[in-house]
Amino acid sequence: MEDIRSRGIVYLVGAGPGDPELITMKGAKALSLAEVVVYDALVQEGLLKMAPEDANFLYMGKRCGRTCPSQDEINDMLIKHAGEGKVVVRLKGGDPFVFGRGGEEVLALGRAGIPCEVVPGVTSGVAVPTSMGIPVTHRGVSGSVAFVTGHPGSGLEDPVVWESLAKAVSTIVIYMGLTRLPEIADRLIKAGLPADTPAAVVSQGTGAEQRQVVAPLSGINDAVSAAGIETPALIIIGKVVGLRKHFATLAAAALPSEPAKIV
Ligand code: SAH
Repeated sequence: MEDIRSRGIVYLVGAGPGDPELITMKGAKALSLAEVVVYDALVQEGLLKMAPEDANFLYMGKRCGRTCPSQDEINDMLIKHAGEGKVVVRLKGGDPFVFGRGGEEVLALGRAGIPCEVVPGVTSGVAVPTSMGIPVTHRGVSGSVAFVTGHPGSGLEDPVVWESLAKAVSTIVIYMGLTRLPEIADRLIKAGLPADTPAAVVSQGTGAEQRQVVAPLSGINDAVSAAGIETPALIIIGKVVGLRKHFATLAAAALPSEPAKIV
C-alpha cells in the first residue's frame, strides 16, 4: 500500500455497523495510512482513533439539523484531496455499497480519473440482528432474506413492492424504514403476512447506545413509540426474530467490546 502514497487515492471503506471492533482488518489498515478521513454520521468516533492523529478529519454526514453537504459536495471533497496526492479514506457506515451511495462516489472518482479501492464492510442488516441473537437465515425457519430500503430517496419511486415481498421471502430487513413503519406493517399484513409475525426494531445496533423492541408485527409501531426508539434504526421481520430467546445470551458474554484495545 505504501507506494500509492505518492499519487493520491481514495479508499472507500465500510466502517461496519457501529461497534468499532467490527471494521475489517483491511479497513483498519487503510485508516492507518490515511492523510484525510472523510466520514459520515453513522461512523463511531472510536474508529477515527485508528487513523494517524495528524490526519485531516472531515465530517461530511448527511444526518444533521444544520447544512448538510450534498452528494456532489462530498464527491468534490474526495476528488480535491486525492487530486492533491493525498491518501483519502472515505469511511461509511456498514458496507459502502449497501444503501450507502458508495457507488455514486466511485463513479464520480472514476470520471475524475482518481484511483479508488473499495473495502467491503459488515452491513448493519446482518450484523445488528446477529449481534442480538437473531439469525437472518436459519434452516427450517428462514431460507431467504430481503434487504430493502424504507426510504426511496426524495423524488424517487418506491423501489419496494411491499405486497409482493410479504409472500416472497422468510425474513425482511428494512433499512431507513422507521418513519414509514405503520404503513409498511399495514401493507405487509394486508398482503398476507400474519399479524403475529415477530418483528424487531433496533437503533444504534452493536453500539453502546443500542436500543431495541420486539413485538408482533401488528403491534410493533406502538412498541416503538412506547419505547421512544428513534432513527437510525433497523427493522427485522420474520419468524427468525422469535429465535432470539435461544441465542441472545450468547452474543455479549465472551468478548467485551473495548475500542481502546485495538488502537
Ligand atoms: N451502508 C449502511 C447502511 C446505510 S443506510 C450499512 O451497510 O449498514 C442507513 C440505515 O442503516 C439507517 O437508517 C439504519 O436503518 C441502518 N443502520 C445502519 N447502522 C445501524 C445500526 N448500528 N443500528 C441500526 N440501524 C442501522
